[in-house]
Amino acid sequence: MPDVIVVGGGLAGMAAAAALGSAGLRVTLLEARPYLGGRASSFPLPGEHDSKEFIDNCQHVLLGCCENLLDLYERLGVRDRIRFFDEYYFLEPGGRLSVLRPGRLPPPLHMSGSLVRLKFLDARAKLAVLRALAQMRRERRRADLDRITMREWLARAGQTQVAVDRFWRPVLVSAVNEELDRMAARHGFQVFLLAFLGSRRACRLGLPAVPLGSLYAPEVWAKFPNVTIRLRAPARRLLVEGDTAVGVEVDGERLTASYLVVALPFERLAAIAPQAGVNTDGWEHSPITGIHLWFDRRVTDLPYAALLDRTIQWFFDKSGGSYLQVVVSASRHLLHRSRSEIVNLAVRELAEFLPGVRPARLERAYVVKELRATFSASPLAERQRPGTETKLRNLYLAGDWTRTGWPATMEGAVRSGYLAAEAVTEAAGRPQRFLVARDSGLLR
Ligand SMILES: Cc1cc2nc3c(=O)[nH]c(=O)nc-3n(C[C@H](O)[C@H](O)[C@H](O)COP(=O)(O)OP(=O)(O)OC[C@H]3O[C@@H](n4cnc5c(N)ncnc54)[C@H](O)[C@@H]3O)c2cc1C
Repeated sequence: MPDVIVVGGGLAGMAAAAALGSAGLRVTLLEARPYLGGRASSFPLPGEHDSKEFIDNCQHVLLGCCENLLDLYERLGVRDRIRFFDEYYFLEPGGRLSVLRPGRLPPPLHMSGSLVRLKFLDARAKLAVLRALAQMRRERRRADLDRITMREWLARAGQTQVAVDRFWRPVLVSAVNEELDRMAARHGFQVFLLAFLGSRRACRLGLPAVPLGSLYAPEVWAKFPNVTIRLRAPARRLLVEGDTAVGVEVDGERLTASYLVVALPFERLAAIAPQAGVNTDGWEHSPITGIHLWFDRRVTDLPYAALLDRTIQWFFDKSGGSYLQVVVSASRHLLHRSRSEIVNLAVRELAEFLPGVRPARLERAYVVKELRATFSASPLAERQRPGTETKLRNLYLAGDWTRTGWPATMEGAVRSGYLAAEAVTEAAGRPQRFLVARDSGLLR
């Protein structure tokens, strides 16, 4: 019998399993799908029968301040597969490029010189942004940041329409996956205080140089002999006696353990472990749409860029400037549109930013609509996010939606897994600390 069963092989479950495994506990990790990674994973390109081409469900971006995620990559021995960049590229329709990068001034002023030179903001907008950034630092401990939306805070901070549309919105909607008028102000503060106004390392943009799935491939887990991974093993229900979780049922089989970590998305929890007593009534999802485009030639020399004033928000060069991935966060408005409409829209808009797209021929396209990409980071959800402890004495929660101090991100998921692992070791009488950058949910 394992010491711990972890249900769910996304980043939260993997973080819990890796931490507990390195602490010497015997862990069984149950994952419903045939591969690990959950919402941050890769799959073989459908329709390519004999091809071994894997694509990510969507481009995943991390920042230098994602210290727990980087710690997990280190534990798994794959940290060197992340490439970091110092520069943020912004493109306007027509193709004019602006670059945001750290300058010579010390933090928190290191980005301000470059911000002042951004071509896509007028002088009023720049002044407004600089004032708001200073105000954010002063107001970081405001008690109402999970009661007001970011849009409300920006209005009170006197932001111009240009500043909102061309600076705050592009950065925050993609970082938090929610629109400004639905997003708790706490998340907007978090992103800017940690990444933009934090250290030079904190604001670096990280991109996996390999498909996401290979970061947690079976061989990576070989160094954790006491972690058993069971794929295609969906937990059907939690088994409970009194105030104790005794195990889970997996396709008629009863698996028991002394401790359980449930690392499922919030919408799955009530069906499988209602005894956890978690209330997510009124919570919503926020979708993300990823559009994979293969052109017959190189169409850009940029590795990635934020795209202003259009539906599409970012592109990433996935291979030699000819395979691009376009991302639209908080993409509710695209859900009712067909895949071919979305491809046409993306190519038409992309051609406005990248002249190289115009003469190119689109060879293939693939659209991934992730309806349940993340929980909607609303003020309501922010106030209700549960901690790792549950009503049952040996059942712990993890997942990007639990109270991590971060929005729904890979870093948030790993933080939750480490917190659950800490709680298990504490309950088992051999307390250990796994969480690094403990105070980076800095607004708590
Ligand atoms: C399109 C998209 C783009 C994103 N972009 C970014 C980004 O750029 N940067 C970033 O930081 N974050 C990004 N995110 C968010 C990030 O992917 C998630 O926050 C994170 O992966 C969530 O991890 P998790 O472990 O909490 O949940 P999940 O990844 O959902 O893991 C839960 C796991 O449980 C499994 N499961 C479900 N039911 C059962 C069951 N009954 N038994 C066993 N297993 C079960 C699922 O298959 C899944 O593997 C993005 C997400 C999406 C969808």
